[in-house]
Amino acid sequence: METETMTTTTGLDEVHILWTSEGMSCDGDTVSVTAATLPSLEDVLLGAVPGLPRVHLHNKVLAYETGEDFLTPFRRAAQGDLGPFILVVEGSIPNEEINGDGYWSAMGNDPETGQPMTLTEWIDRLAPRAWAVVAIGTCATYGGIHAMAGNPTGCMGLADYLGWDFRSAGDLPVVNVPGCPVQPDNFMETLLWVLHQAAGLAPTIPLDDQLRPTWLFGKTVHEGCDRAAYYEQGDFAKDYNSPKCQVKIGCWGPVVNCNVTKRGWMDGVGGCPNVGGVCIGCTMPGFPDKFMPFMDEPPGGSVSSGLMSLYGPFVRTLRSVTNATVNKEPRWRRREPALTSGYQPRWTGRG
Ligand code: SF4
Ligand code: SF4
Repeated sequence: METETMTTTTGLDEVHILWTSEGMSCDGDTVSVTAATLPSLEDVLLGAVPGLPRVHLHNKVLAYETGEDFLTPFRRAAQGDLGPFILVVEGSIPNEEINGDGYWSAMGNDPETGQPMTLTEWIDRLAPRAWAVVAIGTCATYGGIHAMAGNPTGCMGLADYLGWDFRSAGDLPVVNVPGCPVQPDNFMETLLWVLHQAAGLAPTIPLDDQLRPTWLFGKTVHEGCDRAAYYEQGDFAKDYNSPKCQVKIGCWGPVVNCNVTKRGWMDGVGGCPNVGGVCIGCTMPGFPDKFMPFMDEPPGGSVSSGLMSLYGPFVRTLRSVTNATVNKEPRWRRREPALTSGYQPRWTGRG
């Protein structure tokens, strides 16, 4: 891998975003991000967010340019004459050391050889020069569905490829924003932080051990799920049409780091277990293998739900009694000739 790095400092006023989805990818994260509103992609590109550098986005799904015109900024960046840029990688990274006579994934041709230029060659050339390297979606962060047991490409996440101790020209590790696909605003918030940091207006982005932004992935699905009260009362769904807790029909929410139950999908609407779809752990490094088969009860679920089933009905009965009581108005609220509210005047008048 090339080790030469471009000298960059914070206080950048113009940044390119070179976004490749040429790995093992479905482009679902790109599509997802077009639904963001906090901020929207348009807000960032049109300069509606105060303090941000001018941003030039190069993403093949959204670009006007095609073919060589689209590749030009990538080629310039690889030669070190584009200016500061953030590399966004979507899709898992195939192992080209086992590609036989061919290649697993490529983006354009190498002008010198005329042969397809593999994604890994691009990454080798671009990552060390990038001010920041961001992996979007679970495939790029941890390997994801393409890296499941039995896959032929030996693919992996970006930090597996570059090394978990990799540092970009802006001295950041790979910034991971997992999700399959990524929750739109999760990515845009992360990008906003990185851009503000590049502008010299934000401290270093806080990341956890798995290189995820801590404010987005520090809590579990269960901790934000509005069905958790059913769980706590030992009241579990037996089928997929029930509004109750779905832990017994496949929900992994209690052990999964994700904020979708709290945040919703678009503008607070949608989600997963909060609206009836079991959490399959799509943000997690162990996804999908450690969560399959998805529709079975998670192994730990029967223990915890068993315990809740013992005390839940008792608590539910007590609460239903209190609930019935507080559902009735106080008895003095009625039409009758005498006041029965208990009012006691402090004085009864003069004389
Ligand atoms: S549906 Fe899942 S996330 Fe929601 S309360 Fe039940 S176990 Fe927790
Ligand atoms: S709630 Fe579960 S399935 Fe839904 S996005 Fe989060 S991790 Fe994925």
